[in-house]
Amino acid sequence: MMVSNDWRKLSIVAGSLAILLFVVNLLAADAPIAKLWSFSAPLSGYTIVVDPGHGGPDGGAVAPDGTIEKTIALSVAQYLRDYLQQAGAYVIMTRDDDHDLANPDTKGYSRRKAEDLKARLMMIRDHKADLFCSIHLNSNPAGGRGAQVFYDTELEASKQLAQAIQQQFQKELNSKRQIEPQDDLYLLRHAHIPAVLAEVGFLSDAEELPLLKQKSYQKKIAYAMYQGVLEYIANSQTLR
Ligand SMILES: [Zn+2]
Repeated sequence: MMVSNDWRKLSIVAGSLAILLFVVNLLAADAPIAKLWSFSAPLSGYTIVVDPGHGGPDGGAVAPDGTIEKTIALSVAQYLRDYLQQAGAYVIMTRDDDHDLANPDTKGYSRRKAEDLKARLMMIRDHKADLFCSIHLNSNPAGGRGAQVFYDTELEASKQLAQAIQQQFQKELNSKRQIEPQDDLYLLRHAHIPAVLAEVGFLSDAEELPLLKQKSYQKKIAYAMYQGVLEYIANSQTLR
């Protein structure tokens, strides 16, 4: 019987197609395979650790109006993560909500702080990250304003990354500041990969504080950092 044979073939084809589509969907949902999709994205293949400073009991600097460093740092970091991910990077956040990384049972501020920093460093190591960007906010009752990038002198690449981001801070945020070497910051010293710490503005400055609190300005800071990373990667010969 010709007709029923044709129907059988047709149903086999349809069944195979359904299975194929199912497998393709499964693969697309899987992260490493999804990476292949963004093959040509500028940051594809890069693992970047984004580190919002402080968290939990450690709030960091506090503005005259009570605005806390950890909150704005997290918001900027989340915008930066989004930009980097859209460009194909694999982004690790050291924290994605309001907590520190110390053991819950550890008592005492300085002990918690030491454990917290060590845990952040372990995230860089465990993920074999290519780049590290820490985000903080400055405060100085004696004055000062503008976003500034710090780096450790151990790696020339860190200075290049810092310079690339600082140029964007000057361009996008009108910062008048320059990069500054800082060899006593634990995470920058021990990262052993291109690493920077951005102090993205002064909570103590009466004109800068209202800007820092705006979502649109936080996004602008993140965009500037993202552009700096792109610029650095584009110019980098040493990274890989
Ligand atoms: Zn800080």
